[in-house]
Amino acid sequence: MPRESVGTVYLVGSGPGDPELLTVKAKRLIDEADVVLHDKLPGPEILGEIPEAKREDVGKRADGEWTPQEYTNRRLIELAHDGKTVVRLKGGDPFVFGRGGEEMEQLAANEIPFEVVPGISSAIAGAGVAGIPVTHRDHVSSVSFVTGHEDPTKEESATDWEALAKTNGTLVVLMGVGKLPLYTDALVEAGMDPETPVTLVERATWPEMAVASGTLETIVDVRDREGIEPPAITIIGSVASVRETVDDFLGNRTGGLADDQGGSTE
Ligand code: SAH
Repeated sequence: MPRESVGTVYLVGSGPGDPELLTVKAKRLIDEADVVLHDKLPGPEILGEIPEAKREDVGKRADGEWTPQEYTNRRLIELAHDGKTVVRLKGGDPFVFGRGGEEMEQLAANEIPFEVVPGISSAIAGAGVAGIPVTHRDHVSSVSFVTGHEDPTKEESATDWEALAKTNGTLVVLMGVGKLPLYTDALVEAGMDPETPVTLVERATWPEMAVASGTLETIVDVRDREGIEPPAITIIGSVASVRETVDDFLGNRTGGLADDQGGSTE
């Protein structure tokens, strides 16, 4: 196929969900694209603004199964070969636990021209909008981004919680609502103080955003009491307590903002 007739694929980060946190470039590319391939993570507000006719959902299917990654890879290549301008829209940043790396490799292997359009990752922004700086000179000098999806009790778990506990830095766990009891236990076992502050931020920047705080010891009960569900990030470390000192003046919306002026759901 002659090169000129091949369309370009844009691997675009949508940011955490608030349409105003899309980059100017992401917005323009979405408007100009022939097709937007997405899953649910960009959120209803951003997806709702994209005409149905050019949206293709490659997230969870009606039967509850995930669309296989191979299908998404194939579809991107197929659309590009049809000469389409394609936006592959991903929640947050495409390369933070977003499989953007795999898709980029597939595109290159198939000689499809592509461009990477970074987005605001929930890993940083999800904490920020809850009044939690992932680093703070008085608290920490490092931050680690970790998937909570691995089972820490499994021998072959790729996540070394013991090593993470020893960084003395902030830990931000993505995909970590379900396995919260496992890794909070693992961290305490590895020597972290059970009183270490922990905050969960669900649907950061979405209208339903919810924030719930506790400690390594209490956060599982807090999660259950507050009904925190995915997508949510878990922020572990002393920076999580900064929220308490700023919350009264923090204007970022949370589910409770309309009811109690503080906007806190704790
Ligand atoms: N590429 C994305 C992360 C994809 S992995 C990014 O950079 O943000 C999916 C995980 O991201 C979810 O399980 C959750 O932990 C986190 N996440 C994504 N959007 C979120 C949001 N608006 N609020 C809280 N967590 C979010």
